[in-house]
Amino acid sequence: MIIKTEEELISLGEQIGQNLLQQAGNSSPLVVELVGDVGAGKTTLTKGIAKGLKIDSAITSPSFTISKRYKNNNIELVHYDFYRLEDPGLMAEDLEDTMSSNHTVAVIEWGDSIESLLPENHPKITIALNDDETRTVKIEKLALNQGEPQA
Ligand code: ADP
Ligand code: MG
Repeated sequence: MIIKTEEELISLGEQIGQNLLQQAGNSSPLVVELVGDVGAGKTTLTKGIAKGLKIDSAITSPSFTISKRYKNNNIELVHYDFYRLEDPGLMAEDLEDTMSSNHTVAVIEWGDSIESLLPENHPKITIALNDDETRTVKIEKLALNQGEPQA
């Protein structure tokens, strides 16, 4: 799909977050991998996901801390950014802990170094920045609302 504005990307994230909130408590892991170049909109999409999870905190890029945690009453969001991290070290264990909880959502940017830890069929969203500043967004292995999972 083509996304024209930041607001549209946030509302797409919100739908994804709402969907994850419905799954929470039933199944784990709750994990979404975000793929795209610097500035594509991965962190912006994460703001929307937080909104959909009813987390009101301001979401900022975890680049320097690798992860940031946010909470509302019964759901936690852990936002990871493994940019340029060749060896995830202890963060790999942190991620595994996160994925073992069915009340904790992991959103992952730059997940190449921990790709092997992720479930084979995990949801993945790819954002490509087009020349005209629009974004082409591809959603894999994730159902939006009541719809069928998209291939
Ligand atoms: P990433 O996490 O992929 O590096 P960010 O979400 O941090 O990307 O940055 C995207 C930047 O592009 C933000 O500064 C945002 O304001 C800007 N932007 C402009 N138009 C859009 C759009 N349609 N969707 C998302 N971000 C946009
Ligand atoms: Mg980012």
